[in-house]
Amino acid sequence: MTSYRLMMLGAPGAGKGTQAKRLAEELSIPHVSTGDMLREAKRKGTEMGKKAAEYMNAGDLVPDEVVIGIVKDRLAEEDAAGGFVLDGFPRTIPQAEALEKMGLELDRVIEVAVTDEEVVSRLSGRMSCPSCGAVYHQEASPPKEENVCDQCGHEGLIVREDDQPEAIKQRLESYHRQTAPLIDFYRDRGVLASVEGVGSMDDVTASILEKVKA
Ligand SMILES: [Zn+2]
Repeated sequence: MTSYRLMMLGAPGAGKGTQAKRLAEELSIPHVSTGDMLREAKRKGTEMGKKAAEYMNAGDLVPDEVVIGIVKDRLAEEDAAGGFVLDGFPRTIPQAEALEKMGLELDRVIEVAVTDEEVVSRLSGRMSCPSCGAVYHQEASPPKEENVCDQCGHEGLIVREDDQPEAIKQRLESYHRQTAPLIDFYRDRGVLASVEGVGSMDDVTASILEKVKA
């Protein structure tokens, strides 16, 4: 059995979340999104969720020890034995080193590359469902019925705090400062592959699959 221990890297709004989901389905491995796991904890109001919320609301990254803890638990589950697609982790060099200390070396890291201008225009129109977390975009992918979630029927979509203009700026800065060095880190290990995050979703997915199976 081929092992697919994969990670998606890219600026906020690069589309890596959507692509990670598609890739996981395509390869029948779990999609492990730290953003989803943290939002779930925040929604449930757990101790960790409250702690994470303070950072997320300010557009800051959640501290390493919090994130590493939840990822470690998740990857120890049975369904992740044959591989996984990490999305949102590792985000920093210390997180990447922590992952290697867990004995989990990645087979492939896919960078979904987009420009800062593109990121700002994509994130600015983003709306989310506060109930199930589904994400829409005013122009690119509006819900079928205005202000109603296609997925769960919830009325009243919101602009998440981390999609507000000031938070977008901060997220981009955080990304460049902390995450971009990971590109060099994984290039050094010979597992990095880059894909342009433009064009249709299907085209991007196809390019990613090609790199993963190469
Ligand atoms: Zn919903």
